[in-house]
Amino acid sequence: MDSIIIAIDGQASTGKSTQAKKIAKYFNYNYRDSGAYYRAITLYLIQKNISSDKSIPETILNKIHVEQSFEEGSLKIDLNGIDVTHKIRGFKVSSYVSKYAKKQEIRNFVYRQLRISAESSSLVIDGRDIGTVVFPKATFKFFLLADPKIRAQRRHKQINDLSVKVESIEKEIKTRDNIDSTREIAPLKKADDAFEIDVSCLNIEEVFEKLIQKINLQ
Ligand code: C5P
Repeated sequence: MDSIIIAIDGQASTGKSTQAKKIAKYFNYNYRDSGAYYRAITLYLIQKNISSDKSIPETILNKIHVEQSFEEGSLKIDLNGIDVTHKIRGFKVSSYVSKYAKKQEIRNFVYRQLRISAESSSLVIDGRDIGTVVFPKATFKFFLLADPKIRAQRRHKQINDLSVKVESIEKEIKTRDNIDSTREIAPLKKADDAFEIDVSCLNIEEVFEKLIQKINLQ
C-alpha cells in the first residue's frame, strides 16, 4: 500500500502540531513538524551570527543536522545531537524564524528532509505549505485558522509565564502570519482542495473530532 500523507497547514498558533500528533498517534503514523525544522535551523544560524539578509551557503547548511523522533505521541528535536525540543519554542527563535524561512535554500533543505521521511512511512505533517508545495498530492489536506486574539490568549495560557504579555504574543503571531503569507516562495495559503477549519470557538477535542470524521469519511 502507498504511504498516506495527512497535511495540516494553517496560521501560527492554531494548534496544528497538537492535532497532528493526536492524529498520528490515533492512526499509528509517523509525525513531522515542518516548523520545527525551520526553528532548529534558525537557532543554529542565530547562534553562529549568520544573518538572514544574505544567502546561506551550502557549506553551512551541510553542517546542520536536525533529527525528529516521534514516540508515544511526543516529538523530540535534536540539533547536531543536542536536544533543542524546548529551546526552539523560545521568543527569540519565534521572532526570527519567518525571516530565515523565506529563503529558498533553507526551504529546499527542509523539503528534502520531509520527502525522505515520507519514503519510509505514512506521515502526518504540519506546516504552512505542506498541501500546496511539499506534498501537493497529499491524501488529506487541512487548513486551520483562528482569530489572532484567541490564538494569543491560548498561547499565553500555555506558556504560563506572567512576564510575557498577551499583547506581545499577539503581535508576534500577526507579524509571523504576515511575513509567511506575503512571501514570494511557498506562502502560507489554503490549498484549493484543503478542508478549512476555523478553530476560534472549538476546543482541542472538537477540532480532533472534525479531522477524524473527515478522514474516515473519504
Ligand atoms: O509551525 P511553527 O509555528 O513552529 O513554524 C514556525 C515558522 O516556520 C513559521 O512562522 C514559518 O515562518 C515557518 N514555516 C514555514 N513553512 C512551514 C512550516 C513553518 O515557512 N511548512
